[in-house]
Amino acid sequence: MADVFTSLVGQEGAVAAMRQYAKNPVHAYLFSGPVGSSLHDAVMAFAAALQCPNNGCGECDICRLVLSENDADIYVAQRAGVSWRIDELREADRISRRRPLGSGFQIVILEEVELTTTGTSPSAAALLKSLEETPTRTIFLLTAEDVPPALDTIASRCVELKLKGLGPDDIAELLVREGADVVAARSAASAANGNLRRARILVRDAELAQRIAQWRSVPERLNGTPATSAALATEIARSLDEAIAPLQQMQDEEMELRIRESREMGQRSVSNRKDIEAQFKREQRRFRIDELRFGLTALTNEYRARMTEGLEGSGVHDARAEYRVGASMKAIGVVSEASRRLSSNVDETLLLNDLMLSLMEF
Ligand SMILES: [Zn+2]
Repeated sequence: MADVFTSLVGQEGAVAAMRQYAKNPVHAYLFSGPVGSSLHDAVMAFAAALQCPNNGCGECDICRLVLSENDADIYVAQRAGVSWRIDELREADRISRRRPLGSGFQIVILEEVELTTTGTSPSAAALLKSLEETPTRTIFLLTAEDVPPALDTIASRCVELKLKGLGPDDIAELLVREGADVVAARSAASAANGNLRRARILVRDAELAQRIAQWRSVPERLNGTPATSAALATEIARSLDEAIAPLQQMQDEEMELRIRESREMGQRSVSNRKDIEAQFKREQRRFRIDELRFGLTALTNEYRARMTEGLEGSGVHDARAEYRVGASMKAIGVVSEASRRLSSNVDETLLLNDLMLSLMEF
């Protein structure tokens, strides 16, 4: 039977636990799992199960209200910077002391709580305090990509729920179930790196195969002139701009849906529209980085293929093949360095230009 948990594919263990917990909840839960394991979806589904009188039927008004993120008793804390600030956690604490308007709980959702232990003035102590003095009808739902030792005291106040990263087969199966063509679903799933939402975007993306081909053509097209390197960097940057179009379209559709739902529920506008738009922007930034990382993987695969070719084709004294193997190995090193720089918030144009110039030598 379909309920709020049906859409959480590949998470049977966590779903079974959530069904039990929803019947007899405690004050705080900590959801952990890798990027793309649908942490946010899992939290919202569980929140619906907590509020719904039937533990998450997926059909009643309460379930709909929660899943469309319009339940006034659910507060999703917003973070302005790269780590959680103390005043942001105090605001969450203030709201956690409100009495719920409905017959369910006051729910406070705080995502990426590992970011309470980082930054110049870590805010974990403020969060810990809220968890120690939670009012009876309040439930905290926290998420973390992983649980570092610095988070141990917070984790010890929560019931932990671990989600799994999704494999390409899980993702492809789900995409097909959602109506995608089998071939498109497979290639989107393998390009999504375990991230279901990215896969859903890529499956709408007719240009995906072309972008893979573009990255793989780089070694062939670099001819030793800086002008060609610069042109390739520009061309790839332009493809990145185009790659983001399906995501923007998906976000537009989501916003339209929220507007329609708010209207149906008699509200004049979407209550947290600004927050949603900020979240969309963050998602676009993250998407570009994922897309770039994916391109670098395609490029590595191309150099790897060249290396294998060189190895297979070479006799013992074939100097040219030997040179090719050595050059491909060095190129792979350069690409992997670029991939590392990607994690440190580097300027995208600069990264692409540097990369093409360095690869020119091989
Ligand atoms: Zn329901």
